[in-house]
Amino acid sequence: MRATAQEANEWVDGFLFIANRTILDFLNTKPELAAGLTELLPDAHALERWLIAAGIVSSPRAKTLVRGWRDSAEAASFLKELTAFRERLRTAVMRIEDGSLPSDAFLAEVNSLLRKYPRHTSLNKRDSKLVREAVFEPRKPTDLWAPVADATADLLTENEPSRIRKCESCVSHFFDTSKKGSRRWCSMNICGNKLKVAAYQRRRRGTSASTD
Ligand SMILES: [Zn+2]
Repeated sequence: MRATAQEANEWVDGFLFIANRTILDFLNTKPELAAGLTELLPDAHALERWLIAAGIVSSPRAKTLVRGWRDSAEAASFLKELTAFRERLRTAVMRIEDGSLPSDAFLAEVNSLLRKYPRHTSLNKRDSKLVREAVFEPRKPTDLWAPVADATADLLTENEPSRIRKCESCVSHFFDTSKKGSRRWCSMNICGNKLKVAAYQRRRRGTSASTD
């Protein structure tokens, strides 16, 4: 899974990409928007769009395969399991943010997915160098567990887990790649400005109270 997120590119096809880790962007497919908590993956078609926006499904062949499941019962039942997994992942991420480790039950679940759906790679020539790249041609919806499990394992073994953080103002999570490691918000556009205005108003109230 590639890391995404440039400020200018926070929204891709209606999905939020602010986390610097695609698996956290996956967690953020249920963000807190103006209307409240919003499920951005309500059906298999939405999942297909998210997989493409996230770059997980990129080859024309994989896109065609995934498109073919749009109305399948198998894809609908996979999506149900995937969104349930997303909430267990959320709990695990929040434990990491609290400085502890995910539960043994969650680790066992991820280990079982890693065993059952291994990530396939191949060596390819690129600019006179060899690179190892993921090969991902899902034949059935459950094959999507491979990139999800792989990215989850990568997240749980991050070298600097303290950089996995929740926005101070909403339910979104992100991996802080800033130099100082002092990122506080999912996005300046979404929550940063809101908080700055609130702080300004608090300061102003404080000032007027002291001059009363
Ligand atoms: Zn936020």
